[in-house]
Amino acid sequence: MGRLPQGLKGLKILRESIIRQLKSIVGEENVLTDEIDLLLYSYDASFPESKPDVVVFPRSTEEVSRIMALASAEKIPVIPRGAGTGLSGGAVALKGGIVLSLTKMNRILKVDTENLVVEVEPGLVNAHLQTALAPYGLFYPPDPASMKVCTLGGNIAENAGGPRCLKYGVTKDYVLGLEVVLPDGAIIHTGGQVIKNTSGYDLTRLFVGSEGTLGIVTKAILRVLPLPEAKKTMLAIFDSLEAASRTVSATIAAGIIPTTLELMDNLLIRCAEDFTHVGLPTDAEALLLIEVDGAKEALEPQVQAIEKICRKEGAREVKLATSAAEVDRLWLARRTVIGAAARARPSLVIQDVTVPRSLLPEMVSRIVEISRKVGLLIGVLAHAGDGNLHPLLLFDSRIPGELEKVHEAEKEIFAAALELGGTLTGEHGIGLTKRDFFPLEFSPREIEVTRSIKKAFDPMNILNPGKILPE
Ligand SMILES: Cc1cc2nc3c(=O)[nH]c(=O)nc-3n(C[C@H](O)[C@H](O)[C@H](O)COP(=O)(O)OP(=O)(O)OC[C@H]3O[C@@H](n4cnc5c(N)ncnc54)[C@H](O)[C@@H]3O)c2cc1C
Repeated sequence: MGRLPQGLKGLKILRESIIRQLKSIVGEENVLTDEIDLLLYSYDASFPESKPDVVVFPRSTEEVSRIMALASAEKIPVIPRGAGTGLSGGAVALKGGIVLSLTKMNRILKVDTENLVVEVEPGLVNAHLQTALAPYGLFYPPDPASMKVCTLGGNIAENAGGPRCLKYGVTKDYVLGLEVVLPDGAIIHTGGQVIKNTSGYDLTRLFVGSEGTLGIVTKAILRVLPLPEAKKTMLAIFDSLEAASRTVSATIAAGIIPTTLELMDNLLIRCAEDFTHVGLPTDAEALLLIEVDGAKEALEPQVQAIEKICRKEGAREVKLATSAAEVDRLWLARRTVIGAAARARPSLVIQDVTVPRSLLPEMVSRIVEISRKVGLLIGVLAHAGDGNLHPLLLFDSRIPGELEKVHEAEKEIFAAALELGGTLTGEHGIGLTKRDFFPLEFSPREIEVTRSIKKAFDPMNILNPGKILPE
């Protein structure tokens, strides 16, 4: 898939000598070249596939720097990679080259309980950080639904969000400083331990969400927070998808910011229940999973106010989880629903658009309409409080014509989101799968500015080439 950009060499030409040099940098055991290994690193959690020429596992910043210096001297593409759970093809080696897996750089370097910051390596799995912080009474707020496997480096590169980002904000709100290896092997540091910092351009923010196209994150300084004293989890059950999506804005307009406001439609409720058997109401048209956290005594009034709003907007039932086991069951259903959607159809594309929150009901009804018009099964899942929708496009890739329907539906979904003042992606990134749609959202001048930033960091276009910007 894909041709090398002008001037870039594939390893097929240089294979032996390059691989020898890579082995001398990271050790023989940290270099994979077998066909089966290359195949396993040829995809992420999205659809595109393309085999790298080699996979390497550096264990230190210095090794990353030496690999980049080599790649830069030889003009070889390098694709940084975390756990490969990305949903926009970001870790796919479109042009072949070196997949640089950061998974062996996974240490927690510092937990500073006085300043509430941690320093971590990029290959650390998000959930492992949460587990390590709990004994200190701390947590790291961004919690992608994939948190049990995805890495903090991948989270930073995608500016990941998650269910509790409604109240707490997304990854960019927690990254204070970075150590980054540039495409030529230079090591730079941005930001630092301090909470306030207006010194120079905010390069930290520039790297967050840059999808591995500007530099390789080798360390990160992250802000953490004290664990809330208590939380309450509720399930609001609706006979109308529209009423459920209306309830989202109504809740926030009433001055309540829950930690979580997640929406699931009937199709996905049925899939989730079929997979988890946790007792979801399979006849409901929609569910809202709502969580509030904070000081114990502040929660009861919030729960009552939310229940009142849900009922006013048409909820047929509002249940409060009464045990930790029940809360875990509800979250199991939510966190596994994407995989569970395979109960409906064997292939799946997860879309990710965001609209202003007040327009969520309109966007939901447009998705329902697109599903009817195109003749494609689409499940509606949303970090609804953020106006961030994940329509799940369900199909069977073995049936001729089905993938074309997916592409048709995707185009319509993007057009609708942009028309409503939204964006092409709320948290999964542009990567490879959306780069051709980039010009729908950005003007030629805006694309030129983006391109010039890429060029300033990576003049030879060796770092994750072919991502974000249309070719
Ligand atoms: C079931 C499921 C649920 C999900 N739920 C959510 C969710 O709730 N919220 C959300 O935001 N996302 C979600 N995702 C998407 C995905 O998990 C996130 O984008 C995550 O941040 C990717 O992390 P990763 O370690 O898997 O990165 P990868 O997929 O390996 O890489 C993603 C991108 O990051 C770059 N990259 C990786 N490491 C580095 C580094 N050290 N330096 C520079 N660039 C790097 C790669 O080049 C690539 O462009 C979900 C995915 C799945 C499969």
